[in-house]
Amino acid sequence: MTDLSALSPAPAGARDAVLKFYFGPMDCGKSTLALQMNYNHARQGRRGLVLTKHDRSGGPRVTSRIGLGRDAIEVEDDLDLVALVTSHDERIDYLICDEACFYTVGQIEQLADLVDEHGVDVYAFGLASDFRSVMFPAAQRLFELADEVCRLQVEVLCWCGRPGLLNARVVGGKMVRTGEQVVIGDTADAPVRYQVLCRRHHRAGQLGEGSGSESGSAA
Ligand SMILES: [Zn+2]
Repeated sequence: MTDLSALSPAPAGARDAVLKFYFGPMDCGKSTLALQMNYNHARQGRRGLVLTKHDRSGGPRVTSRIGLGRDAIEVEDDLDLVALVTSHDERIDYLICDEACFYTVGQIEQLADLVDEHGVDVYAFGLASDFRSVMFPAAQRLFELADEVCRLQVEVLCWCGRPGLLNARVVGGKMVRTGEQVVIGDTADAPVRYQVLCRRHHRAGQLGEGSGSESGSAA
């Protein structure tokens, strides 16, 4: 990987802002880490905004399964993220972008603009792939543009005990492979729910025993 920061002249003492993408399946602790990251930066006196889209709470909030939560800005499709930041009264040092897989590709470009043109650090969190194991367009763009990409693996396991890598969509107790890319659901019992599987069992379509009830998620 080319280190562009070594090539572009920057004022002495300055560092380039960064675009980082943290990805992993549902239940792997992305929102928890997003909230922790915001806390850490805010505590150092940095000013940031917390953004999300389609949070599990159904509102403009970032919430985690282990009970943390805070208000956030809902990223509608027509929200211009550069304008959002530059029109802010105070200088914004960083963005926490939860559920970034659901943003538009254009909004990912805007995040890169904020990093390169405005020196804003962007920490994006989200799923990489949908229930078919196909990459979300916004996640793909993040893979292409991010300075750093990190896979989160907080012990979310398939029913077989292997690391859970992919989300299966379960409708009426059966795994489906067709349908809209984005259907909001949780890993709890619901008409449409999601279950984290290892690659082997996602590809085989095997939900394991007792799949009608619990998904083995952190409750
Ligand atoms: Zn498995």
